[in-house]
Amino acid sequence: MKSNEDVLLKHRNLILEATGDGVYGIDANGLTTFSNPAAERLTGFSSDELFGKSSHTLIHHSHPDGSHFPNTECPIYAAFKDGKVHHVTDEVFWRKDGSSFPVEYVSTPIIDDGEIVGAVVSFRDITERKQAEAALSESEERYRKIVESTHEAIFLVRIADGIMLDVNDEACRMLGYSRDELITKTTEDLHQHQMDIHREFMASLLASGRAKTDRLSCLSSNGEQIPVRVSASVIQLQEEECILFIAQDMREHLKAEQKARTLQANLHHGARVSSMGEMASGLAHELNQPLAAVMNYLQACQMLIDANDTGASDQLSDYIGRAADQAERAGKIISGLRSFVKKGESNRTIENLNEIAEEAIGLLAANATAEGIDFRVSFASDLPRVSVDRIQIQQVVFNLVRNAIEALSLVAGAQLTVTTSTSNGDSAQISIRDNGPGVADEMLAKLFDAFTTTKPDGMGVGLSISKSIVEEHSGKIRVDRNTGGGLCFTFTLPAEIGDGADV
Ligand code: ADP
Repeated sequence: MKSNEDVLLKHRNLILEATGDGVYGIDANGLTTFSNPAAERLTGFSSDELFGKSSHTLIHHSHPDGSHFPNTECPIYAAFKDGKVHHVTDEVFWRKDGSSFPVEYVSTPIIDDGEIVGAVVSFRDITERKQAEAALSESEERYRKIVESTHEAIFLVRIADGIMLDVNDEACRMLGYSRDELITKTTEDLHQHQMDIHREFMASLLASGRAKTDRLSCLSSNGEQIPVRVSASVIQLQEEECILFIAQDMREHLKAEQKARTLQANLHHGARVSSMGEMASGLAHELNQPLAAVMNYLQACQMLIDANDTGASDQLSDYIGRAADQAERAGKIISGLRSFVKKGESNRTIENLNEIAEEAIGLLAANATAEGIDFRVSFASDLPRVSVDRIQIQQVVFNLVRNAIEALSLVAGAQLTVTTSTSNGDSAQISIRDNGPGVADEMLAKLFDAFTTTKPDGMGVGLSISKSIVEEHSGKIRVDRNTGGGLCFTFTLPAEIGDGADV
């Protein structure tokens, strides 16, 4: 018969052998008193090799970075000095073959008769757990980076109470709040100036799970209403229903739209101003006729008066009436002209032709692309600056690009290229090249003459106005045929004297 003690010992040994955790005991001097098979398997040391040796020296001698780990700082040894249980998860144990593994261990003091006589250490290899944690934090970091590097403001809001769980840097920047301030706000706080639209948007979002709007603006920390384009989706996050709002700051976009509208208006105005020259000769001709008629009628009146013919009063009044009609006609012609030009004289400034062209093209590029034209721009970086009336030169670029787009309207594989260049920094040059149908030879020679047009609704003044603008700027404009078909319009402007290349 085995004694109770034998049975207990056997049970304890069976448990120690069966457990997956490594277990070993140390005495008050830190020398190993026993170890289980898992400890052998995990460290590579046999029980015999461990027995009676300092476990710290064998398996715990260095930190994860390989630096020396003095046993005076070892938490395992601390257990039998301070009598407390020590739980550690950020150290490594070293195997017999010199490799190491991240370990989680608990060191429990053994107290006998009120005296600490050693400690039991139970440990496990947590390589997989650490890898999973690293993968998780890497993926969290990756998502955080995506969220932080986007140009849109992102808000994560809990539906139950409207609390913001998270926001990104762009949201803070856009609204002028710190992250801590912003997460105390609710979506209602940000839209308190337009609650009706906000409620309507939230209702459609909650009904369908996703929604978009351009009608909302967000209230910033200084009270500014920032126009935003919002898209939102309902998402499930750890059992909680949340809304992910992505808001794009529309201030720049709206400003650019406004600028484009002003530019378009200016270009139209520019067209009218530039047509002035053309108009002036036509106007002189138009005015000549009524003014000559007025003069004739008045001379006739003078003759009647000189003849002292009292019976001629009816005729006199008829002539005066006719003269007045003609004077009125001349007045109408002149007032028509005044409304033709409202904004005044040309205004020269020092400019970069690339920027001028970019603004003029910006208005048309979208149209060209929408019509399937392969629209390319190649700007030289070393253009000298030019002294020009910005609006007038934009008008020229605008006319040439618009003509090319119109010429390409029925062309398959249409290509339009705008190129700037310089010859030795003496001049800035821009070419607008298309692969359209071009024009017949007899047309080509008179393309820059006024009223030359092939379009049913064309005026035929765009190119002649463009020529006068370029020549007024001491520049030259020409048209060439492309070898592969189509036309290439090129105009050159002299560099502003004393200006170096604009790099
Ligand atoms: P409009 O466009 O009103 O006709 P323009 O003076 O701008 O007046 O153009 C005169 C004519 O030159 C056009 O009618 C067209 O026949 C021709 N033209 C201009 N640009 C091109 C081009 N890129 N390709 C073919 N023809 C062109």
